Amino acid sequence: MFLRKIEINGFKSFANRTEILINSGVTGVVGPNGSGKSNIADAIRWVLGEQSSKNLRGIKMEDVIFNGTQNKAKKAFCEVALYFDNEDRRIPYDYSEIVIARKMYRSGESEYFLNGASVRLKDILDIIRDTGIGKEGYSIVGQGRIDEILASKPTARRKVFEEAAGIMKFRTRKEEAEHK
Ligand code: ATP
Ligand code: MG
Repeated sequence: MFLRKIEINGFKSFANRTEILINSGVTGVVGPNGSGKSNIADAIRWVLGEQSSKNLRGIKMEDVIFNGTQNKAKKAFCEVALYFDNEDRRIPYDYSEIVIARKMYRSGESEYFLNGASVRLKDILDIIRDTGIGKEGYSIVGQGRIDEILASKPTARRKVFEEAAGIMKFRTRKEEAEHK
């Protein structure tokens, strides 16, 4: 399983549909200050269900929609799609390609899609659990996160290891069963 492509449209500084293709090996993103590098990481976190505008470096959620410039009108909505190669079926959903997408309007109305079908965020979180993908997963290491992990309480740190070891799903199912 690997991330093959990121499609960003109307999100933050990405006014127009932009495709970021990712090849094998290490990919770096370079550019001047304020050119939108961190906005790519924000887009990935957002499509994976980030609900906190603060974590996306904004004040209100609407701030993630392209807000216009002197010569470009603002956008009414934004969308982000992640294309995963799933030949190895690491994501337990029987397709060779998994597309996770989210679309949001200025009203705040937000929709999630799994391979084109409208789904709940919970459905997406269910299939990516234990894959390392996810806004809290170990695959996105934000600035300051390393210090946070080192300084955290043993119980919180254990969760990071459980996610990495792939046993988080059992904990979640146990907790769900206990609360029924
Ligand atoms: P640095 O090298 O300083 O970390 P960066 O390449 O990571 O810079 P970002 O933080 O990704 O830059 O991008 C910031 C830019 O995104 C700013 O110019 C800001 O105006 C723009 N931006 C953020 N939100 C929006 C929005 N809703 N509409 C239009 N532009 C936006
Ligand atoms: Mg940055």
